[in-house]
Amino acid sequence: MVIKEHLPASETLRTLFEQSPLAFQVISPEGNSLLVNQAWEQLWGVSHEAMANYNLLKDQQLIDKGIMPYIEKGFAGQTILTPEIEYDKSTATGTSGLVGKLWVRTFIYPLKNAEGKLSEVVLIHEDVSKIKQAGESMQLAAAVYQASAEGIMVTDENNRIVDVNPAFTRITGYALDDVIGKGPEIMQSGKHDQTLDQQMQKAILNENYWQGETWGRRKNGELYARWITISAIRHADGSVHRHVWQFSDITEKKRKDELIWTQANFDQLTNLPNRRLLADRLQQAMSASTRSGEHCALMLLDLDQFKRLNDTMGHGVGDAMLVEVARRLQGCVREDDSIARLGGDEFVVVLHELSTNEDMAAVQAEVVAEKIRTELSHPYQLDGVEYHTTPSIGIVTFRGHRDSKENLLTHADTAMYQAKTNGRNAICFFDPSMQAALEKRNQIETALRKALAYQELVLHYQLQVNNTGQPLGVEALLRWNKPNFGIVSPAHFISVAEETGLILPIGQWVIKTACAQLARWQSDPNLENLSIAVNVSARQFREKTFVAQITEVLEESGINPERLKLELTESMVLDNVEDSIVKMGLLKKLGVKFSMDDFGTGYSSLTYLKRLPFDQIKIDRFFVRDITTDQNDAAIVQAIIAMANSLRLDVIAEGVENEEQRGFLQLHGCLAYQGHLYGKPLPIDELERKVSG
Ligand code: C2E
Ligand code: MG
Ligand code: MG
Repeated sequence: MVIKEHLPASETLRTLFEQSPLAFQVISPEGNSLLVNQAWEQLWGVSHEAMANYNLLKDQQLIDKGIMPYIEKGFAGQTILTPEIEYDKSTATGTSGLVGKLWVRTFIYPLKNAEGKLSEVVLIHEDVSKIKQAGESMQLAAAVYQASAEGIMVTDENNRIVDVNPAFTRITGYALDDVIGKGPEIMQSGKHDQTLDQQMQKAILNENYWQGETWGRRKNGELYARWITISAIRHADGSVHRHVWQFSDITEKKRKDELIWTQANFDQLTNLPNRRLLADRLQQAMSASTRSGEHCALMLLDLDQFKRLNDTMGHGVGDAMLVEVARRLQGCVREDDSIARLGGDEFVVVLHELSTNEDMAAVQAEVVAEKIRTELSHPYQLDGVEYHTTPSIGIVTFRGHRDSKENLLTHADTAMYQAKTNGRNAICFFDPSMQAALEKRNQIETALRKALAYQELVLHYQLQVNNTGQPLGVEALLRWNKPNFGIVSPAHFISVAEETGLILPIGQWVIKTACAQLARWQSDPNLENLSIAVNVSARQFREKTFVAQITEVLEESGINPERLKLELTESMVLDNVEDSIVKMGLLKKLGVKFSMDDFGTGYSSLTYLKRLPFDQIKIDRFFVRDITTDQNDAAIVQAIIAMANSLRLDVIAEGVENEEQRGFLQLHGCLAYQGHLYGKPLPIDELERKVSG
């Protein structure tokens, strides 16, 4: 209610009252609202008309509000400024539909008439909601600042520290007193580099902001890694007011990340880079050599007979040797060169910055390889025991990206394989013809794996006769009847079968087949006296179960063991003489016969020959070939026959192709023959027809 008489008489004062930004309310001593201005209406959301029957002192709405005691004081004649009081907009007057909070500070003062009696009470409200909210945000910010897990440091326009939070102290060990007024360098590591500093300054200048990882140093001297954000707070004119440095300690996280990275890229045993990191290094070497024009070399090396050492001496010794090998390798190359362990006993060395001339580069690589070979061949003292090993090294030189990483490794592997074939403890460079041979070998291997299952293997038999031409027996010779190809000679696949271990099932099959053949002959009067000579491979003979295998086949077939003759070569039996004596002895007890194949090609010593229970010596066909033309060969054959006779061993000559050869052999006391003169190796039915007919 606006009661006219209460309005100021002067126009100016009236306008001043009406348009004041402060909310005015004039109340009668009884509590009735006499006058409100526009700001009041706006503040409370109530029109002056709605105030007609409003009595401030009796209004229930205000009873609960903190303002009531102040109002009462005003009515009692005091002038009062209330603190900020919170109102709910909707219930402030009970007439409003507004929502939200209001913070209002009120000036209450009594007006007195000439007699000094209370004539009106004036309430001037000021809406302080905005100020209040800002204050609250400030408080919140301060609390966050205090409670933050991130270290916060504030510096002034001259980069002097003005404040730090508790997390700062927790992380760095510095209290505010330690650092106030100082520069941020107090917590720098010294590991810091100039360019980083410049980058930081530039970013802050241009973007008000820099973020990154740096090293810090704690009060106790310890280094720590931190993720840091620096932002600038500027004055309105753009000049810097404050810098805020926020950072977290990421040392532990970094350590874990590094551990994960190390585990993923390094070999745990030797601490050398693993295959994965090698790939990166190789990539780098390729790029660097593209730029410089210099060659690099990739060496793949493998320890000879390592598996045997590992199996017999235990993994502890094997591991210790690998660690020592890694150490020696490091001593053989320059710091920039890379060494990696691929796994097992395979190591890779990448030599960088060799000559721009390919041949020169190869020479340089060979020098290093030779150094490595020599170094690794020295004895190893492991756990007080001396061990020996040698490496086989395959090398490929490269420049740029012409060959893929995979190809380089394959080529080095091919060369290493060749080094092994060359008798181990050797160095071999890759050349493309090697690759072709290897591919052919791999094809043979794949096909050979199927050969047994698809029954592509057959035995041919070659007659052995006495000096009157009577059949004594046959030698079983393996043939591979390869589909779409024809008969393959064992010369083409026995070595592959040996390397891959396929010789074991194949050899087993040969013995079974030969014994089954003997079993069938037992009931044929024309054939019952024939023996079959079977070639045994080194790998087969070395098997622990060799004796048991033969025994089992003999029992299964039920043949007379004396009809089975096993052909062994010198190198096979001399590889482990004691073991050979035991194995041969056991089989001899059953009646099995032994013939020494290809005699004369090895280095047989008489001493051993006497101890090994052979029944027969088979003169190698290369001596027989030339006995009628070559004096030396004639002399050797004569000596072999004489020796066999003196040791009371049978002697047979293989590769007898003509009468002159046979005549010479007979003259000197060799009375058994095998060769084209009596027939080539034949399929079983042809052989049987030949003998029976
Ligand atoms: P080897 O045991 O020394 O076999 C004798 C080789 O001489 C056979 O070659 C045979 O065909 C050949 N030969 C026989 N008479 C003459 C002749 O008058 N003149 C000439 N120039 N050669 C003659 P083949 O059958 O090619 O066998 C080669 C080698 O393969 C065998 O040499 C043997 O070491 C191996 N081999 C054959 N069969 C088997 C087998 O079942 N198991 C194993 N482990 N090796 C076998
Ligand atoms: Mg033979
Ligand atoms: Mg032979």
